[in-house]
Amino acid sequence: MFDRFRYKFAEFMRGRYGVDQFGRFLSALTVILILINLFVPSRLLWWIIVLLIIYLYFRMFSRNIAKRYAENQRYLVYSSRVRGFFRDFKGSITHLKENREKNKGYHVYKCPRCGQKIRIPRGKGHIMVRCPKCGFEFHKKS
Ligand SMILES: [Zn+2]
Repeated sequence: MFDRFRYKFAEFMRGRYGVDQFGRFLSALTVILILINLFVPSRLLWWIIVLLIIYLYFRMFSRNIAKRYAENQRYLVYSSRVRGFFRDFKGSITHLKENREKNKGYHVYKCPRCGQKIRIPRGKGHIMVRCPKCGFEFHKKS
């Protein structure tokens, strides 16, 4: 009985698009929205969910495989860009942390004239700082 249903379903799906990465992303998004809707019920959100489900099934049963494939490619390009953004973001955080580690035990001042950053060891009391770039001298407490 179940095998027959499966066979029928396979027969039905022949020549149809099925599920791809974009489809999986859309179904995950739908599940998240349904969960949000449980806690914050909203009619608008409900309609978005309904449309998403319709769109999901439309893509799954679509016979226009070339078009669905192109959609998935667009999704893959876009999602890799988003992933790249988060990777870069994580990278710059690491970079900031490394810099902070490097500047431990130092004060970093900016030259008041040219804006050059100057590293001064901490705990030296009042000192004169000479900018290595423009030669401007200024007084600082380290
Ligand atoms: Zn300077």
